[in-house]
Amino acid sequence: PRLTRADLAALPNYVPGRSPADLARELGLTEAIKLASNEVPYGPLPGVVEAVTEAVAGAHRYPDMGVLALREALAERYGVSADRIATGCGSVALCEHLVRATCLPGDEIVYSWRSFEAYPIIAATSGVTSVRVPNTAAHGHDLAAMADAITDRTRLVLVCNPNNPTGTSLRRTELDRFLDAVPEDVLVVLDEAYREFVTDPEVPDGLAVYGDRPNVVVLRTLSKAWGLAGLRIGFLVGQPEVAGTVRKVVTPFSASIAAQAGALAALNQEEEVRRRCALVVDERSRLTDALRKLVPEVPESQANFVWLPLGDRAVEFAKACEARGVIVRPFAGDGVRVTVGTPAENDAFLAVAESAL
Ligand code: PMP
Repeated sequence: PRLTRADLAALPNYVPGRSPADLARELGLTEAIKLASNEVPYGPLPGVVEAVTEAVAGAHRYPDMGVLALREALAERYGVSADRIATGCGSVALCEHLVRATCLPGDEIVYSWRSFEAYPIIAATSGVTSVRVPNTAAHGHDLAAMADAITDRTRLVLVCNPNNPTGTSLRRTELDRFLDAVPEDVLVVLDEAYREFVTDPEVPDGLAVYGDRPNVVVLRTLSKAWGLAGLRIGFLVGQPEVAGTVRKVVTPFSASIAAQAGALAALNQEEEVRRRCALVVDERSRLTDALRKLVPEVPESQANFVWLPLGDRAVEFAKACEARGVIVRPFAGDGVRVTVGTPAENDAFLAVAESAL
């Protein structure tokens, strides 16, 4: 007999980026290039490895379950009180906790599609109904249609800004109008995993601009700009009731001592984070310009990746890149997401793209 839920049998797995070491071995290369998971390529921030090493000397003890020191440091950095913050094992876990904190089986969550691939998986595993609103022809969110999709069963709306994987972003006037239209008993999650790479002044910082709206939660991660993808830590800022409920539903001790220590050390390196983000932004525009010569419809990206709307050619293009030692992320029938790497990595990718497209 089947021991797990029958409806999960057909659910796709979350697809992580392929390991560059495996690909290099397969191709007989000394190394492969991974531009598939939106990581920043410059290594852990100064001081992080030392802080984690020191912390793991206490690895036989449980971590601080309340994550107090880190929540206080985040509170100071972002100008809010610590009771408004919850942390999770990556912001992807917080997406799941937010669903658990707001939805009962059969409730609805609204998000645009295509967006972050974890959203439909979380909805399906949580027994809530996904209401997907197609992106606009320009690959961005259709906020008017998203507002129209809200029903009496809607508990949560996920707005990814900038959007993964298309890199498109919403402007303040559009978001103002949308948030005004959302009923006050529906929670809006502004997923700002890529906020640190935004350079367009019209794209609002959700925390600064909407942080005090009662039904808005802002989701951030330390995985991207802060360079801690492997330690797994993200956070949200919401009203105390929302953050407090999320802290109740979080798996106990999901912020390890390494994650807490690494995050505290990273937060001391803001200057270096800014410097690295500026390098990524420069390379983003170089990559975008070069790729638009091959695919004119490449949308402007405010994140640390670029979207190639290749439609049916997406998988074939990604395979051609892999055959030449560059791992990118295809979304079948739709497009390919390419993470901004170091200048040398981007050059290598562009050489492959020029021959494959
Ligand atoms: N939100 C978005 C939009 C993302 O792209 C990602 C990572 N791919 C996450 C959340 C989750 O990141 P993490 O769990 O590493 O914090």
